[in-house]
Amino acid sequence: MLLKLTVLPGDGIGPEVTDEAIRVLESIADVFHHQLSVSRKDVGGAAFLSSKDPLPSDTLQACLSSDAVLLGAVGGPSFDSFPSHLRPESGLLRLRRELGSFANLRPAVCFPTLEDCSPLRPETVRGMDVMIVRELLGGIYFGEPRITEGPAGNRTATDTMRYSEPEIERIAHVGFQLARTRRGKVTSVDKANVLDCSRLWRDVVNHVADQYPEVKLSHMYVDSSAMALVSNPSAFDVLLTENMFGDILSDQAGGIVGSLGMLPSASIGGRVALYEPVHGSAPDIAGKGLANPLGAILSGAMLLRHSFQLEKEAICIESAVSTVLTAGYRSRDLAKPGAPTLTTSEMGRKVADAVRADASRASQLAAS
Ligand code: NAD
Repeated sequence: MLLKLTVLPGDGIGPEVTDEAIRVLESIADVFHHQLSVSRKDVGGAAFLSSKDPLPSDTLQACLSSDAVLLGAVGGPSFDSFPSHLRPESGLLRLRRELGSFANLRPAVCFPTLEDCSPLRPETVRGMDVMIVRELLGGIYFGEPRITEGPAGNRTATDTMRYSEPEIERIAHVGFQLARTRRGKVTSVDKANVLDCSRLWRDVVNHVADQYPEVKLSHMYVDSSAMALVSNPSAFDVLLTENMFGDILSDQAGGIVGSLGMLPSASIGGRVALYEPVHGSAPDIAGKGLANPLGAILSGAMLLRHSFQLEKEAICIESAVSTVLTAGYRSRDLAKPGAPTLTTSEMGRKVADAVRADASRASQLAAS
């Protein structure tokens, strides 16, 4: 199969982690006889520096004409004082909107060998396997008006949270359909005791639930879900929520599994799907070889699964990551103080080697 990808390395650690994801995808292409075609384009701060636009039109066109997009991360302190439409993050928000990817899937899994990396007790985090389904194109990140006005010293700022029934309905279907392929549970997270948007959310989710009688639905306020996520994370299967709540809870999930660097994501439902690790550009460690590339590498597995239906290949990456972690290899964020660590590219190479080793073991078994 021809896998035509646009890769947007972006800023900070973005280029380092996407290089490793591509290295692993190349090993998959070799082993499973696919052809990988990769076109790299600028986005975010890198794009602003090269063309004064955080989402240049040639980047957008390349994304729209590819089968899938893999992104690193955008942003950095040197852009913090920019007006909002020129900030790197505005390029990413525009990209998500242009691609139409409204469903952001953020799996947070605690690998058994990483139980001791969690700040929680091993028995609390054991078995955690939650799929956060975050609505990505609505809510307070996109609602208008958004404005800061008034004289210095007496300014007011307004952001608008808005949701329509069709927006809630389509993301709810994604959540229920995923739950059917997992443990059959949806926890819908809102703030219906305070927000009108959340009351509408709850109402629409209840209606959609009628079409999935085999899925068990419960509702939780976002504040209690934050607490439940740390006190009993393994109780969650699919956690369905709106844009901002999902943004916050998925970073919390990253903290629980030991490092934000472990979490992949897929944004699906639009013309072309977008895959990116959950973490940001991590300017504090950029360019030092300290970044954990596993979130980006696992985003590559999601890309194979959701954009190409290559389930065997996706599982091959996931089990290669598990093999490398079980063998004790750690990037700095996962290591105990003083323990040996791998650089970003060493970790990527270990996973690529494990992909090749797994595949050659499988073909020997098939031949015997
Ligand atoms: P961040 O995710 O970049 O970093 C938070 C902490 O996690 C840092 O200590 C960082 O070193 C660590 N970390 C993150 N990824 C890691 C990895 N792969 N390996 C090891 N450690 C890792 O969040 P932040 O510091 O709040 O934001 C930095 C910049 O990134 C900001 O400009 C922000 O706007 C941007 N951002 C971008 C995205 C995105 O591109 N999707 C997401 C979040 C934040």
